[in-house]
Amino acid sequence: MELATTYTYDVVIIGAGPAGMCAGMYAGRSMLKAVVLERGFPGGELLNTELIEDYPGFETILGHELAQKFADHATKFGAEFRNGVTVDCVEKRTDGRFETRTDSGDVYESPAVIVTAGGTPVKLGIPGELEYAGKGVSYCAICDGAFFRNQTIAVVGGGDAATEEADFLTRYADKVYLIHRRDELRSSKILQQRLFANPKVEVIWNTVVESVEGDEQGLVKTLKLRDVLSGEASDLAATGLFVFVGFRPNTGIIDGHVDHDDMGYLLTDTNMHTSIRGLFAAGDVRSQLTRQVTTAVGDATTAAIAAEKYLKALADGHPEEPITGTGGYTA
Ligand SMILES: Cc1cc2nc3c(=O)[nH]c(=O)nc-3n(C[C@H](O)[C@H](O)[C@H](O)COP(=O)(O)OP(=O)(O)OC[C@H]3O[C@@H](n4cnc5c(N)ncnc54)[C@H](O)[C@@H]3O)c2cc1C
Repeated sequence: MELATTYTYDVVIIGAGPAGMCAGMYAGRSMLKAVVLERGFPGGELLNTELIEDYPGFETILGHELAQKFADHATKFGAEFRNGVTVDCVEKRTDGRFETRTDSGDVYESPAVIVTAGGTPVKLGIPGELEYAGKGVSYCAICDGAFFRNQTIAVVGGGDAATEEADFLTRYADKVYLIHRRDELRSSKILQQRLFANPKVEVIWNTVVESVEGDEQGLVKTLKLRDVLSGEASDLAATGLFVFVGFRPNTGIIDGHVDHDDMGYLLTDTNMHTSIRGLFAAGDVRSQLTRQVTTAVGDATTAAIAAEKYLKALADGHPEEPITGTGGYTA
């Protein structure tokens, strides 16, 4: 039996998406001993995004290429990555230090933690959804789109992800139905323009998917729909259902009360400090107006620099001192 190990770091970063990798880079540049714990591979949602067109400096870049660049950059400045490590829980001890416990039993001890764990796709919660997950039901267009070449599929949702991915999926599918429960989309206008200009996409308004049904091979065959205005039921023949109805922040790992908004996203001050001193949050886990790669790395920059200042105050014996300073901008 392998024995669990306790590791000691200056700062533990939970999640290697854009925010975690950027926090790792800045922590490394500040000469902090930093580790980025990632349950999968570095990249986060970038690995689920085919093309990024709105990251400054790159007119277009593949999501996985940008992820690799982020990881290489953080590694170059000394951040350590531990992949395949799932964090179960992070807890502040009575001595003021944090214990980050992982699925292997290993514990990472540190005076500061930056949570960059992103979010998890929201499920529809309808019969057949989980049964056919991976057999036609998907939450990731770039991962699974190619399985639906020349087929008829459906996308559910009305936000940016649903709009963008319905358009993207027409690279593979012959026909993509976008099913939305309202009579207008919530997505940005430029994404809507692209979608409406795509002849392979048809929007089914004011409609919900009530269940997913399969064929004798256990693959998705039919979607049971209901018009929310008329109450009328109908069947849609489709071999795939892509669900993009939102994300839930991955904040369940925090033991003890931490301030959050109604949706569970972490509340921070402008230094990315949560209500738990020494615990910082950045990226999609944080309550904010928008969630993009740019905002994730912006948050992470602030979080890493604030963590460094917090550690300095701690070393000087003033852990309650407000975090202030030029933040790297020197006139
Ligand atoms: C389909 C889609 C398309 C998008 N397109 C764009 C776009 O074109 N441009 C743009 O700017 N943004 C886009 N976004 C949004 C952007 O990807 C996110 O805002 C960004 O990835 C957030 O970064 P993050 O590091 O906060 O979180 P994430 O990217 O979600 O990374 C979080 C990481 O934490 C890890 N993690 C979670 N829990 C644990 C745990 N308990 N233990 C260990 N590791 C854990 C996860 O595995 C993940 O790697 C898109 C998002 C989606 C879903």
